[in-house]
Amino acid sequence: MAPDLDEIRAALESERVRLQAAIKGVNHEGSLEEETGDLSIGRDDHIADSATETYMRELDDGLGENAEHLLGEIEAALGRLEEGTYGTCTACGKKIPDERLHAVPWAALCVEDKRAQEQG
Ligand SMILES: [Zn+2]
Repeated sequence: MAPDLDEIRAALESERVRLQAAIKGVNHEGSLEEETGDLSIGRDDHIADSATETYMRELDDGLGENAEHLLGEIEAALGRLEEGTYGTCTACGKKIPDERLHAVPWAALCVEDKRAQEQG
């Protein structure tokens, strides 16, 4: 059963938008609002959705590099979708299991190659 590529593309594109926002946000010192979030009321131009704020806060630790790296992975995955090579390992050419793609839609490597890479 092939994964739903339209769904994957949509997921990758929304993730890309979030990362781009996070990367921009990290350049602004003190961009996080008060913990209460009261200040965000009435700001129509800035959708302060709590999921995004949590996400950005999590990313805040050593963001820069990681977010940009992840953004690159996502753009590469979108490129593979265009080329029709999405879902195959870029190292060994084997099919990446659907469950892995579901968990990590931008995965470029199969589990074995990912492990090998992480081990250095
Ligand atoms: Zn592989």
